[in-house]
Amino acid sequence: MTLSVELLLSLSDEMLILVDPRTLHIIQASPSVTKWLQFSKNEIEGKLITDIECALADVFFWQSVQSGEFSAVVNGEGIYQDANGGTLTVEKTVQQFELGDKSVIGIRARVSTESKVISDALEQVTASLQSTLESTADGILVTDLQGRIINLNRRFAHLWSLSDTILAQRQDKRVYRAMAKQLFGPTTWRSLIEDVRQARDADTFHSLTLKSRRFLESRSKPFVVRGQLSGRVFTFTDITERMRTQTELQAARDQAVAASGAKTQFLNHMSHELRTPLNAIIGFAQIIKDDAPAKQREDADHILQAGWHLLALVNEALDLGKVEAGRMEVTMQNVCIDEIASACTSLTEQLAKKRGIRIWNNITHTHQYVKGDPLRLRQIVLNLVSNAIKYGRDGGNVWLSSSHDERGPTYITIRDDGTGISSEDQAKLFQEFSRVGENQQHVEGTGIGLAVSQKMALLMGGMISVQSKVTEGSCFTLRLEHVESPTNESSPVSGMGTAPATFLADKTVLYIDDDDTNRAIFSIVLKKKLGAGKVILAASGKEGIERAQTVQPDVIVSDMNLGDMTGMEILVVLKADPRTTHIPIMAFSGSGTREEIEIAKKAGFLHYLMKPLQIQELADALRAMIAHTEHPAIQPNTHKTL
Ligand code: ADP
Repeated sequence: MTLSVELLLSLSDEMLILVDPRTLHIIQASPSVTKWLQFSKNEIEGKLITDIECALADVFFWQSVQSGEFSAVVNGEGIYQDANGGTLTVEKTVQQFELGDKSVIGIRARVSTESKVISDALEQVTASLQSTLESTADGILVTDLQGRIINLNRRFAHLWSLSDTILAQRQDKRVYRAMAKQLFGPTTWRSLIEDVRQARDADTFHSLTLKSRRFLESRSKPFVVRGQLSGRVFTFTDITERMRTQTELQAARDQAVAASGAKTQFLNHMSHELRTPLNAIIGFAQIIKDDAPAKQREDADHILQAGWHLLALVNEALDLGKVEAGRMEVTMQNVCIDEIASACTSLTEQLAKKRGIRIWNNITHTHQYVKGDPLRLRQIVLNLVSNAIKYGRDGGNVWLSSSHDERGPTYITIRDDGTGISSEDQAKLFQEFSRVGENQQHVEGTGIGLAVSQKMALLMGGMISVQSKVTEGSCFTLRLEHVESPTNESSPVSGMGTAPATFLADKTVLYIDDDDTNRAIFSIVLKKKLGAGKVILAASGKEGIERAQTVQPDVIVSDMNLGDMTGMEILVVLKADPRTTHIPIMAFSGSGTREEIEIAKKAGFLHYLMKPLQIQELADALRAMIAHTEHPAIQPNTHKTL
């Protein structure tokens, strides 16, 4: 073929092929053949035509041609196989020519439009796949089973900072080497490769740390072609920002925990600091009340009420800290609700009087008992009654009542005819720091009372519910387990307030406390109220130990935080000394968590009382301690815990 013919042929999109009818070898093929079938010119010439026309009908056709039986084909349909094993549908015309003395077969084939549509569609799919790959935020790498790179996206190249040269060369080794170089520790990369090799049809996941202080997550999935495992698709996600946020969040959380710890510590400390002067106020008021004439007794009562109220506030602040730290505990006992109700009404009497509100306490003399922590129960009822007064109307009413169904729970109800609460606001009532309604800004409060009360009720196995109508009033109901009778009747102190008790008459009590006021109160109470035979006071741990060793008192009461020693240290010294080891010792402290109290008791303190001093409670504890030394088998059962 001359050059001009070749030129002409190259312009045509049709495939022109000349075949030797004897050998069936391709003698010559036009440039469009190399284009469509993707063989090089050298590969195509000399190839058997049956390697291209490979359908069964074609094989029969060419066998006939070889044996001299040729029949021309005009616009017949055929299938051609290309260099990659793919197929093309063609329309072909096959004719015989005489070239000089030689006979040749000429084929004119055109890729059928249908086939074109498919290859166009394929091209489109490939293009859209590529743009999908490019549009993802993750780096993507596709490999065959041997790890040879089949495809990758730009994001992958960017994540691994692969240079354009490496990309253009597309040498797998260079790509992998560039990746390995950036990773911390060669083991990471090796283990990744190894895991991937072993995973076969499983998914893999790796966290990668780069030397540039970036963090990537790599996941891989196998891909399957015609049921055959063919390779793997890797995604690489940059999680540096996420890690940074997480670290910051963790730091913030740690800071919050530390702050909350500091707050709890502060609250504990504050409670101790406040309890000490309160101890003096309440202690002296109790002493004055019993000895003073009627008018002064009333004044002393006011001091006492204010003192107890202040104590309740200290406790509330402390409770909030405990609730927030999830450390609140309750000591369950059978509690008489009559006593709780009257204690709460007398504490709020003054508050009610000021507003002209009448309190109707219908719980007195009902002799009903519930299962609960007496301190917590008192706190809840006190909060509900004082709220009923605070948010009640001037000259209004507050009713306290209780009911108990046959074998059902006990309901304690505190009702008022005050402002009321809208149903929308009722939903927010038990949330911390939630104050609702229009008038609340004129009323003193913090919005924590109900939240803490509800938590305490839940801890006691009960619940507080509310019913209310705006302008008509509110009704708060506390539900608690009903019990038939008290388990532990507290032993009354004989002649309290009139004549001193006699059980300490021949006893010597040693009291160790570095606070002058506390020592003064204690001394008066022990001598005057409890009729102690002898009271010895020590102002430091060291002095207390010396007095205990020389005097050998019948009972020792010690503060837990003295300037020179802790109560626990005093106990250890006294228990180790044969002169003092038998003497019962009781703790009297301004603060103490439940754990601290438990530890102190395990160490050997028979009782652990909390300040402020309550004469009845002290009498009960001392009586039990004396009984214990005289009859060691009787275990003490009176103690006050937080
Ligand atoms: P405080 O009284 O310190 O604000 P509480 O937690 O005890 O906190 O009460 C939360 C809020 O619930 C109060 O601020 C008040 O708006 C509302 N509330 C509580 N009891 C009553 C009541 N009996 N009548 C009307 N509103 C009440």
